[in-house]
Amino acid sequence: MKQIQKRLQQFKEVDFLNHQELYEQLSNKQEPHTLFIGCSDSRVNAELLFQALPGEIFQLRNIANIVPHVTNSDRQSSTLSVIEYAVSVLEVDTIIVCGHSNCGGCRALLGDAPKQPVPHTLHWLDQMTSLSQDVQARYNPDETDESINTVLEKLNVLEQIKNLMSHEFIQQAVKERSFSVIASYYDIGSGHVYTNTKSNDELLELIP
Ligand SMILES: [Zn+2]
Repeated sequence: MKQIQKRLQQFKEVDFLNHQELYEQLSNKQEPHTLFIGCSDSRVNAELLFQALPGEIFQLRNIANIVPHVTNSDRQSSTLSVIEYAVSVLEVDTIIVCGHSNCGGCRALLGDAPKQPVPHTLHWLDQMTSLSQDVQARYNPDETDESINTVLEKLNVLEQIKNLMSHEFIQQAVKERSFSVIASYYDIGSGHVYTNTKSNDELLELIP
């Protein structure tokens, strides 16, 4: 990163001083209200999109904002531990799963993978292979104005919510306390963030 010292100095002299009281409160504990599950893409910035301050959003970021299904738990403890900690320990009351436009992970699943060797990335994306195949089999450009990439990016968000709901600790949280799961999709070029804030039951009905 260019001018890293200058940026750090600016953080200390401007942002930190503007929120000094908040940082003092945060020095001993965190009480985030939301778990954000988004792509690692550098253009997706949870604090910016949801206008949040430090301490508000716990985050899980990975290629294509994937939540491993319960049947795939064994090899995904790093990812699932973030969700488990947010829900069971920090007791967040909201989970936002956020997809985005021009997602490289979704593009790779549609046959446009990077030319460089990326075995770990392709192994990770394997979790979405059946969704991708389903979208490719069903996609009909005469029935929608959206590209196949956009359709996959949006359906992927719903798929990940379905995967989220496959975990018992999530089902328990939904049953036992006030808890919302929100599907969202960020269109980078327009700055628009689509959200589905229906109840969990209604949201599940949208999932094929
Ligand atoms: Zn992405």
